Amino acid sequence: MPAEALCAEARVVLANPKAMLERICDHFVEHGTVTKTESGARIDSPLGNAVLKIEGDALNLRAECPSEPALFLVKSSLAEHIFMFAEGETPSLVWAGNGAASDEVPYFRAMQVIGKRQISPNMRRVTLKGDAAHFAKGGLHARVLIPPRGRVPVWPKAGPDGRVIWPKGEDELTGRIYTIRKIREADGEVDVDVVLHGSSPGSVWAMTAEPGDPVGLMGPGGGEAVAADSYVLAGDETALPAIARLAEELPLNSRIRIFLEIAGPEDEQQIAARPGLDLVWLHRNGAEAGTSGLLEAALLDLDWPESDPPYVLVGCEHKAARAIRRHVRKTRNHPKTRHLIAAYWRRGYQDATDEDRH
Ligand SMILES: Cc1cc2nc3c(=O)[nH]c(=O)nc-3n(C[C@H](O)[C@H](O)[C@H](O)COP(=O)(O)OP(=O)(O)OC[C@H]3O[C@@H](n4cnc5c(N)ncnc54)[C@H](O)[C@@H]3O)c2cc1C
Repeated sequence: MPAEALCAEARVVLANPKAMLERICDHFVEHGTVTKTESGARIDSPLGNAVLKIEGDALNLRAECPSEPALFLVKSSLAEHIFMFAEGETPSLVWAGNGAASDEVPYFRAMQVIGKRQISPNMRRVTLKGDAAHFAKGGLHARVLIPPRGRVPVWPKAGPDGRVIWPKGEDELTGRIYTIRKIREADGEVDVDVVLHGSSPGSVWAMTAEPGDPVGLMGPGGGEAVAADSYVLAGDETALPAIARLAEELPLNSRIRIFLEIAGPEDEQQIAARPGLDLVWLHRNGAEAGTSGLLEAALLDLDWPESDPPYVLVGCEHKAARAIRRHVRKTRNHPKTRHLIAAYWRRGYQDATDEDRH
């Protein structure tokens, strides 16, 4: 942890702090490294660290992170889970230290639509103006927050317990996760490429957004590929923006194999022209998105040398992601640190993902 680490502390009185500690440890083992101590635990994650310690009837929390957004995420994630696991109790939790004096959510930015254009029959690009530089580091994706049409937007705020306070009722926001496809820092512009698939909130927003419309962005986060000599990047059209961006940003001396499942040839896009890139388009040719099995078949067939395993990044429909993850983890025994296989959407469910972020 760098010397300039930001730090926050809180004390939560609980009926059973030991049981809470256990549940927190069990949960966060999926997201970081949990080290148990005699009276507590330490959780290290890519965001920073958290130290939990039982003192009498209280659980003391201490979070240390290198940046304000990271500290906010650690605080809010701990608080969300403590409230979720508290079953019947309403714990009192107030953070002190860095960030405590502000009700701003440090990874939120209010933006404005400035343009949109069709980039292929099923993909629409929406351009947003605002603090684009904020999205340049720390992940590829953001949650787009669409306010109800015709109302002055009410944006999320940070509560003293670290949780985000979301507007409700008439001011409720519709949130959907998209990739920041392009960032033009100097112009303060970002592009978001939205797959059109009927009358879903995300598709309707991309079709009807007008210059001047307010929109919120929460992020960035997730999707960054670790350093490797070679990569396998695969997905359906929802991951096309992330894969196209990675192909532009990954070191030029790395080898990249890409598999992209799309409706048909008319939805193909120009992907970065670079050496060492091998791109395969998989056309569904009339099959519904999320039903073709093309992506699973391509990845189950793929071979790589044990001695030089690639970093594997996949984003697609839930069922395909599950099958591919099972194959990569169980059959190929590919180390967890060498892949990120995520459901970007789930057939029949709204805003449903199980992103395997870190
Ligand atoms: C990390 C990450 C990055 C993503 N990046 C992008 C991106 O850059 N561009 C992008 O378009 N999407 C992206 N997605 C996927 C996007 O968040 C989901 O597709 C989301 O469900 C879209 O919301 P919606 O309002 O259109 O549909 P929802 O209201 O969520 O769902 C309505 C119905 O549409 C179905 N549905 C959802 N998505 C699709 C689809 N693509 N094709 C067919 N049916 C669908 C659902 O199963 C549901 O039945 C990303 C997701 C993740 C987790």
